[in-house]
Amino acid sequence: PESKLPTLGTTIFTRMSALAAQHQAINLSQGFPDFDGPDYLQQRLAWHVSQGANQYAPMTGVPALRTAIADKTAELYGYRPDAESEVTVTAGATEALYAAITALVRPGDEVICFDPSYDSYAPAVTLAGGVLKRLALQPPAFRVDWHAFSEQLSPRTRLVILNTPHNPSATVWQPDDFAALWQAIAPHEIYVLSDEVYEHICFDPQGHASVLAHSGLRARAIAVSSFGKTFHMTGWKVGYCVAPPALSAEVRKVHQYLTFSVNTPAQLALADMLRAAPEHYRQLPDFYRARRDRFVQALASSRFEVLPCEGTYFLLVDYSAISDLDDVSFCQWLTTEVGVAAIPLSVFCAAPFPHKLVRLCFAKQEATLDAAAERLCQL
Ligand code: PMP
Ligand code: GLN
Repeated sequence: PESKLPTLGTTIFTRMSALAAQHQAINLSQGFPDFDGPDYLQQRLAWHVSQGANQYAPMTGVPALRTAIADKTAELYGYRPDAESEVTVTAGATEALYAAITALVRPGDEVICFDPSYDSYAPAVTLAGGVLKRLALQPPAFRVDWHAFSEQLSPRTRLVILNTPHNPSATVWQPDDFAALWQAIAPHEIYVLSDEVYEHICFDPQGHASVLAHSGLRARAIAVSSFGKTFHMTGWKVGYCVAPPALSAEVRKVHQYLTFSVNTPAQLALADMLRAAPEHYRQLPDFYRARRDRFVQALASSRFEVLPCEGTYFLLVDYSAISDLDDVSFCQWLTTEVGVAAIPLSVFCAAPFPHKLVRLCFAKQEATLDAAAERLCQL
């Protein structure tokens, strides 16, 4: 058949993890921990399965989990969404992003995102018939130029997609970024899709700045989160989105025919976990800061230049001093010849990205990080 996505291949995450496995490389490419999530969470899952919680969950999510999400949101961002009409549980953040884009973007609508951008946004916009305008951010700060942003706005602009803490640059937005966004879009009917899956992995002393903390923006925003990142269980694929009732209603129209509902016992276990052990997510910045600092320290004697990491579990390193290869070739070589798999940055960009930067995931056991650093220090 004629492809609706003719230039799209298999995602870089699948390709790099496969290459890593094939060459028995240490896999710092696809973002997932090489350790398990909390015992308590695992026990609660087993318990709910044993109690027969094995049939369809309510379409919008189990009430206990939606209420726990509303409480967590109130605690962290000073705004309590209505659990009934504003919180929707989805099959990972990926589903929430897809459902939101499908619900909002009409044929010919323009969508603005910031490059480098996470790879699931663009195909969803294309399938909805939208036109993606990609604003390139420059390393090392990857800050938005709000003047350039305003110049991208047109009467057709429908949606802005942002991501903070940002994968892959590991930078974070400040409240003044949200203020600038609001100033630019307030007079227009433009919506905001805020990908906040790393909300609990933010090293900024002020904490994570959420779109939900901005009273103007949150009336227009769909905020997306993922329990995979927060509880070290990326394979559980449970996420959620928070949006005002009218927006949530549109997202739910798509969600009900995309997946209908999400794994019941996993939702119940996550609700128990949020209630019983909120210290887990409160301590997550410290947990990951220690890993980040250990890895940065271990790379200090290497010829890689390490960029600042303000959030996420990714570290960017510049390999200019080591190789002239482009980033895709360098990652291939690093995996097959050095035994460390990484992610090239250019794959997240539409325009040529001439920088020699690759992304390393540090959601790994200390022994894994030490072994990887030892190999990287030999280059
Ligand atoms: N957005 C970003 C920025 C991500 O990094 C990821 C996953 N790594 C997702 C969305 C998807 O999250 P999930 O696995 O919950 O679908
Ligand atoms: N988001 C993860 C990453 O950035 C990968 C998720 C996936 O493989 N789809 O590595």
